[in-house]
Amino acid sequence: LASRELKKEDTIVTVGNVKIGGNRIAVMAGPCAIESREQISTIAGLVREAGAVILRGGAFKPRTSPYAFQGLGEEGLQYLKEAGEKYGMPVTTEIVSPSDVDLMKNYIDMFQIGARNMQNFELLKAVGKTGMPVLLKRGLCATLEEWLMAAEYLMASGTDQIVLCERGIRTFERATRNTLDCSAIPVVQKMTHLPVIGDPSHATGLRDMVNPMSLAIVASGASGLIVEVHDHPEKAFSDGPQSLYPSQFEKLMRDIQALAPVV
Ligand code: PEP
Ligand code: MN
Repeated sequence: LASRELKKEDTIVTVGNVKIGGNRIAVMAGPCAIESREQISTIAGLVREAGAVILRGGAFKPRTSPYAFQGLGEEGLQYLKEAGEKYGMPVTTEIVSPSDVDLMKNYIDMFQIGARNMQNFELLKAVGKTGMPVLLKRGLCATLEEWLMAAEYLMASGTDQIVLCERGIRTFERATRNTLDCSAIPVVQKMTHLPVIGDPSHATGLRDMVNPMSLAIVASGASGLIVEVHDHPEKAFSDGPQSLYPSQFEKLMRDIQALAPVV
């Protein structure tokens, strides 16, 4: 179902009032984690003003350490929904358990399947059954074939509204958190009709690398970006070192418009 052979024209995914796919760049932005009602609302206002069209923020965080901040859960979903409504942005957040599907679908416009859960097949089936849009991140060590098979699970379960996200893969290089695989973008576009976006934040782990890698993602032909932004990155509960300052995000939005039209 995901194959380009079966469907030649690009799929356009509709998330609320936003269309993702083709040559226009849709930018999703927000904090790694929702920390409070004020925090998500402040950041939503900042990123909307700069040109983001979808708000991101984690309420259930899949952290490497069990002692790290795990997210606000349902309370966070409530704050995310409020902030999205306030600024007219559809919202996306990560789901980590099939048992959260019914709760989450009342609060969000798009499910995010994280890199660590790309091959959690029961999760893919449960999310796919909703028919709702899904942002499917590439697994840490996933081949393109495995990534597309994960999309196939979602499609076989009932949704055709899938956006693929290249977010860096695990390589031998440790200077950046992961290694952004830009070449995956045009290759995957040959294999599938589904839209592909990039995540320069998790790919690099370093805020100074986010601008150049965003430009590389756009130049590679992607249909969008998902970027972590925080009003006080040094105080962020998670992923502070890769979170952009609002002024850096404003510059990023200006810079990408020199390469491609923005949604
Ligand atoms: C995230 O988007 O906050 C996240 C945890 O991303 P990934 O699954 O790509 O690591
Ligand atoms: Mn993060």
